[in-house]
Amino acid sequence: MASRPVDVPALVQSARDGSPRAVARLISLVEDEHPALREVMAALAPHAGNAHIIGITGSPGVGKSTSTNALVAAYRKRGQRIGILAVDPSSPFSGGALLGDRVRMQDHVLDPEVYIRSMASRGHLGGLSWTTPQALRVLDAAGCDIVLVETVGVGQSEVEVAGLADTTVVLLAPGMGDGIQAAKAGILEIGDVFVVNKADRDGADATVRDLRHMISLGDRTEPGLWRPPVVKTVAARNEGIDEVVEAIDKHTDWLARTGHLRERREARAGDEIEAIVLAALRRRMGNLRHHDSVDRLAADVVDGRTDPYAAADQVLDALT
Ligand code: GDP
Repeated sequence: MASRPVDVPALVQSARDGSPRAVARLISLVEDEHPALREVMAALAPHAGNAHIIGITGSPGVGKSTSTNALVAAYRKRGQRIGILAVDPSSPFSGGALLGDRVRMQDHVLDPEVYIRSMASRGHLGGLSWTTPQALRVLDAAGCDIVLVETVGVGQSEVEVAGLADTTVVLLAPGMGDGIQAAKAGILEIGDVFVVNKADRDGADATVRDLRHMISLGDRTEPGLWRPPVVKTVAARNEGIDEVVEAIDKHTDWLARTGHLRERREARAGDEIEAIVLAALRRRMGNLRHHDSVDRLAADVVDGRTDPYAAADQVLDALT
């Protein structure tokens, strides 16, 4: 694929100076898997690590977008620079259409201290685990104090996205068997803060109670562990949002105090390295497939002259 040349140092400098266009361009380079990405990542590396990354996850319609909007307002009151990344892990399509849908975020589209970006993350080279962390790094290095990552898609991918955050906020709404659904989806394990939104509806207190009970079942006795709080909100009326911010602040302090922040970030960086390695191997493997030697090995396997393991060993040698 032919790509336009990129003046990486200038682009990174303008992103750091606060140019939303430069930030947008850098994230596009990530999405496009642009050849300049290596140079971009090298230039960003010394500037990353300052943003606190907050994952917002929960079923569609639970109020993620409304809550994100309200949280942004709360953080803006503190004068913080915010990045919002809405990722759709189920879609390979990037684009403005999705962003256009996030109407409830529009309170902030004109604020130069708020970057809003949606991205498809199921790329053809390794997907979520590959592109999203790099987009986060762009926002981080561009000077965002807080980056909110919101999942737009459905399903298990939410758990994947939660793995990218320092603090994961899980949203639920009152409804039958919500607590049980959460347990099934593996969401109890990933939440650092639980929010029962739509508390203006019947059953909110029961959902809070269920959730607290479910969390207590997983309690361990070691001192100094984090116990996820459950907060009630009516995001549509901005109620309870300060309490959510307070819970996130407490979790942030706990992470720093106990060394868990470092631990989480190292685990994530390890995952990122692995994803890049696997993507590179997959790419090389793809090239090798079009190569005579693999065809020959395949023919040998079919003819019984060798076995698939021995053939794979030969390919692995060629790959590395
Ligand atoms: P998302 O799909 O999780 O991002 O959910 P949205 O933020 O788009 O909200 C889905 C719908 O629920 C919208 O119509 C919101 O106006 C509505 N909603 C959000 N928060 C509340 C709330 O606290 N109470 C009620 N009754 N409705 C809410």
